[in-house]
Amino acid sequence: MAGERQDDCLFCKIVAGEVPADVVRETDTTLAFRDINPQAPTHVLVVPKAHYRDAASLAAADARVTADVLREAGEVAAQDRVDGTGYRIVFNTGTGAGQTVWHAHAHVLGGRGFNWPPG
Ligand code: 5GP
Ligand code: ZN
Repeated sequence: MAGERQDDCLFCKIVAGEVPADVVRETDTTLAFRDINPQAPTHVLVVPKAHYRDAASLAAADARVTADVLREAGEVAAQDRVDGTGYRIVFNTGTGAGQTVWHAHAHVLGGRGFNWPPG
């Protein structure tokens, strides 16, 4: 059921503290931790604590927590001091777009320049 912990989900395990992560921020509804394979000097994942398979599913189910994830993405950028130069918030959605973990997450990328269109 949407929002409920999935026992086979890596990010549910990180939220539960069962898999270690470099946590940079936490709220009642969200957790932010550094990506294990960073693609930029700042590369942080912001996840809802509740399980949804992707960002659109989260947004359809819970507008407040969706806003929490976006607000926290901005707070991460400010905390890492990449907000001045600019940063990117990415929600890879679906296999063709590169989604590999099926628990909604925002990538916060900063600290270098980015191309457009993205690869
Ligand atoms: P996606 O490809 O689904 O958009 O993003 C999943 C992200 O999770 C990838 O950037 C990948 O490096 C990251 N990741 C995968 N396993 C782990 C892990 O065990 N710990 C952390 N911190 N990040 C992970
Ligand atoms: Zn999950």
